[in-house]
Amino acid sequence: MLKEEYMNIYNSLEDVEIKYFDEKNIKKLRSLGIKSLYDLFYYFPRSYDDRTNIMKINELRGDEYVVLKASLMKIVAPPTHSGVKMVKATATDGTGIIEIVWFQMPYLRKTLKLGEEYIFIGQVKRGYVFQMVNPEFKLSSNQRKISEGEILPIYSTSKELPQNSFRRLVKEAVKSKKQLFLENIPDSILKKYKILGREEALTEIHFPKNSKSIEEAKRRFAIEELLVLEMGILQKRFELDNENHSKYTLEDKKTLVKKYLENLSFSLTKAQKRVITEIYKDLSNGRIVNRLIQGDVGSGKTIVSMILLLYMVENSYQGVLMAPTEILAVQHYLSVKEKFEKLGVRVELLTGSFKGKTKEKLLNDIKEGNVDIVIGTHALIEENVYFKKLGLIIIDEQHRFGVVQRKLLRDKGVLANLVVMSATPIPRSLALSIYGDLDVSVIDELPPGRKPIKTKWISNDEDSDIMYDFIGKKLSQGRQAYFIAPLIEESEKLAAKSTEELYEEVSKKLPMYRIGVLHGRMKNSEKDEVMKRFKNKELDILVSTTVIEVGVDVPNATIMVINNSERFGLSALHQLRGRVGRGEYQSYCFLVSKTENATSKARLQIMEETQDGFKIAEEDLKLRKSGEIFGTKQSGFSDLKFTDIVHDIKTIKLVKEICVDYLKENRGKIENPYLKYDIEEKFKEN
Ligand code: ADP
Ligand code: MG
Repeated sequence: MLKEEYMNIYNSLEDVEIKYFDEKNIKKLRSLGIKSLYDLFYYFPRSYDDRTNIMKINELRGDEYVVLKASLMKIVAPPTHSGVKMVKATATDGTGIIEIVWFQMPYLRKTLKLGEEYIFIGQVKRGYVFQMVNPEFKLSSNQRKISEGEILPIYSTSKELPQNSFRRLVKEAVKSKKQLFLENIPDSILKKYKILGREEALTEIHFPKNSKSIEEAKRRFAIEELLVLEMGILQKRFELDNENHSKYTLEDKKTLVKKYLENLSFSLTKAQKRVITEIYKDLSNGRIVNRLIQGDVGSGKTIVSMILLLYMVENSYQGVLMAPTEILAVQHYLSVKEKFEKLGVRVELLTGSFKGKTKEKLLNDIKEGNVDIVIGTHALIEENVYFKKLGLIIIDEQHRFGVVQRKLLRDKGVLANLVVMSATPIPRSLALSIYGDLDVSVIDELPPGRKPIKTKWISNDEDSDIMYDFIGKKLSQGRQAYFIAPLIEESEKLAAKSTEELYEEVSKKLPMYRIGVLHGRMKNSEKDEVMKRFKNKELDILVSTTVIEVGVDVPNATIMVINNSERFGLSALHQLRGRVGRGEYQSYCFLVSKTENATSKARLQIMEETQDGFKIAEEDLKLRKSGEIFGTKQSGFSDLKFTDIVHDIKTIKLVKEICVDYLKENRGKIENPYLKYDIEEKFKEN
């Protein structure tokens, strides 16, 4: 089949002809996020209504989707405050009782039969008794006839499109279009690992023969999705390592670097030196650098990146450093501007705030090669940014950027040398999979003289008063403090408001001190101004949202107060705490939270107990069931549907091996056109 035809699976549903797929239904599907045939086929059942698998009430754990078979003991229709009509039944299967509630279906009061046995399918909640709200239900005597030997898929659907209608649409689509889904796993892999074929797997996942075939289908799709991702990542690496990129030679001059180091007020740690040497080695050998520098907060990654940039400059290339926020870009820029200029190196800042003539001139200077080092934000990946001889790209706090952005920036270079830096301590096994394409260097040592940050969880008002007194004392000794407002994800507007409220509180409690406010709704120039004043000690206190989460470096600030700290993930808490403990003075972190939630409490205790990022990351893994973990949001690994990156490490590893072997055998070429196309889709810019 032609590639064009295969592409139909990604086209809009309006363009396909399937029974029942009229305008109305297509609209309903759209509201579930299903826009293409691909979306529909890969909209897998959330669970299965397996009539052979009826749960007993005394086996329920709560919060699960189940099939129950129970008889009605009591039916009532009590009035409600809101006037919503409710029918409430109590049912039993002999092992326990469950309450079943239906809203806005008053007729059930009459049609439900007391004493009869029903099958109930739905979500169970645990209150003081188990409860099901608006479950699907049928008389159990009818039920047997309808679905003997059948396992029905249960989808996450909407009110407008109930289970049965949705099932019917999927059934039609599978029946008439499954042949469009051509095999996208190379034959050799399919055979070697005994993977279920795509067409069959799609049929089985929606309308399984038995529970074994569901498992086989799931395994197939887990491998498939990982294959698309890993193959995409690794293929790029493969291309780089091979002939496509010509080798280069560097003169390996180090005069400027030496001068710069001589004028530094401290000497590098062993770990910093080791990492720099590792990268020098690649560069001077003309090898394409593709490396992750991992180092806990405060381990001194910035200086490492600056030295590498300087090295490239004196060996006649340009360099770029990209940071995730403007505050951070400005901070990096200011930290080297003077010293670099003294060495005759021109460094410029490029952020989204640059407009008009200034920007035009700057872009031109970069293009002409008059600028040696550019430090900036996302603005760097814009189309109109060209370099004359870009030799090294460094991305700071790389977990904030996606695979795609990494690639866009890299494409601007004449040499595709890339160093990404991250404070995110991902356990090694996971890192190897996620950063399958990167070499890893670790800065496993903090600069000398750092005192551990004393961390305390503040859980009541009394302690809070003591905390404020304590902070007042420290401020009077000349230290500075951060107060972080509760995390509000819904909107920047609310977040801004929460900083205002916090500002009120702090200014009441600590009236003698100068307070600045920082949040995402402010103009960048305003943010910079506040940051600058805080850095220059013109402000004692900074009330802020998490805009300062990453990278901000003010060594005199020794106090970090995080309000409603239960709302933050461990990774965010760790990052925020990393803003203090950067100088000679003892630092303190206060986690303010009145949470009663057991997991939240456990998290706060971990923070009190340890400061080791890797340990925190591991504990984080243990506390989470699955889902997004420590800084994986942008990696491409967080929108995996079938793979839990915490528990499915084995599969991740296996697929990585499969990909490496395949690419080696096929010299980096992916012969299967459908896989190739899926990879393109996945890595497409959005
Ligand atoms: P991070 O790794 O979190 O990005 P930074 O690069 O911001 O850490 O460094 C944290 C602080 O440590 C900065 O103030 C920096 O100047 C300082 N620093 C870095 N390296 C050293 C060193 N070898 N000795 C002393 N201080 C250092
Ligand atoms: Mg940093």
